[in-house]
Amino acid sequence: MTNIDLEKLKKDFPLVEKMAEGEEVIWLNPRGYNSSLDKVVLPFGSAEIDDAEARLLRFAPLIREAFPETREMQGIIESPLNEIPAMGEILREAGIDFPGKLYIKMDSHLPVSGSVKARGGIYEVLKFAEEVALKEEGINIRSEDYSLLLTDPVRSIFSRYSLAVGSTGNLGLSIGIMGAKLGFKVTVHMSQDARQWKKDLLRSKGVTVIEYRDDYQKAVAEGRKLAEKDPFCHFVDDEGSKDLFFGYSVAGRRIKRQMEEMEIPCDEEHPLFVYIPCGVGGAPGGITLGLKEQFGENVHIFFVESVQAPCMTLGMMTELHDGISVRDIGLEGKTEADGLAVARPSKLVGTSMKPLVDGCLTIEDQGLYAFLYALDSSQGIRIEPSACAAFKGLDLWEEGEVLRGYIADNHLGGKMGTASHIIWATGGNMVPKDEMDSYIKKGSVMI
Ligand SMILES: *Cc1c(COP(=O)(O)O)cnc(C)c1O
Repeated sequence: MTNIDLEKLKKDFPLVEKMAEGEEVIWLNPRGYNSSLDKVVLPFGSAEIDDAEARLLRFAPLIREAFPETREMQGIIESPLNEIPAMGEILREAGIDFPGKLYIKMDSHLPVSGSVKARGGIYEVLKFAEEVALKEEGINIRSEDYSLLLTDPVRSIFSRYSLAVGSTGNLGLSIGIMGAKLGFKVTVHMSQDARQWKKDLLRSKGVTVIEYRDDYQKAVAEGRKLAEKDPFCHFVDDEGSKDLFFGYSVAGRRIKRQMEEMEIPCDEEHPLFVYIPCGVGGAPGGITLGLKEQFGENVHIFFVESVQAPCMTLGMMTELHDGISVRDIGLEGKTEADGLAVARPSKLVGTSMKPLVDGCLTIEDQGLYAFLYALDSSQGIRIEPSACAAFKGLDLWEEGEVLRGYIADNHLGGKMGTASHIIWATGGNMVPKDEMDSYIKKGSVMI
């Protein structure tokens, strides 16, 4: 499909050489940082984020009713932000000498589906349900109480519609759990990387799971093709959905309120650094949009990918976006971090993130397990391997020229002592205990 001259690419972008060898890299976005912009220019308006936030509020009574674990939060699907000083100490002992305080955003423990996909995925299902409800004469949701959508007559109308999605696992879980709860027929097209327990769990909820021996992009393409033939089917397009994107972006407003409550400052004197694992880009991209809307240039955002699947780094660096795949530089895209096993990035995300993201880092699989073990033993927090990639972002703070340049260009000199760092833990709470135990064991022998 693409015609990439690898030798020329390596000449134009020296990092490609290392990436092709599967080495860990740090890429700083020449447009993201060193910008003299007073205000960060957002690729989309705040109106879309307002709309998503309002829709989630309208659906809160339904969520509260359908998922008892959200009762305390009044049907708002949100996760805690916790300080993790003991983990910080371990990292510093290991030579990662970051200044300031360390926090974890526990999307790993989001209610309903235990991953960051509970933001975007559930939002897209709700938006579709609202569209159907407004269109179908048998449903009256003007009564304002959306929990009425959970009744049998409505479910039987919803059952004429279906949802389809291609996924490495967690997006499928979110769409499947929420879609099945509302009565939609759901089909999840799963890539080979997807874990068995995720497929089993979905099947137990009546979701159709189709497995592919190929990778994630193939699962998405097949799912899209099948869905196009069916006018009653809504395809959740992980590679290009704006609904997913805006669902994720609401996180920015929510975390700002949490930070205010916890008295965590983010302003000119108190920089905020956020590290987010990245697969196809939707989740970290949407969150970045939301954070930039709230904090502008005082927030610094870094994506972390697998060394075997650095698709977003490659796409943004070369500005070829979805015109380049990690296969073009000889990588397979295979990693034990199932959420990050993506070979080609989303164009929607890459192009809109190019001016916003400050940089990308990559991590080898074994590092994931080491962080996983360290977090469990220091803080008793268990997250999945993909989510652990975020910790690699702190590698920025290993002494070096790269870092000094970044600090100077961003006028951060003298301010780093009051910095905050947020590890965005993207998943983990639904991992079965024996599987999690085996991850921890794996990490324990690495330390
Ligand atoms: C999906 C996922 C990611 C990456 O999100 P993208 O939208 O694919 O970039 C990271 N971590 C976990 C646990 C995920 O499920």
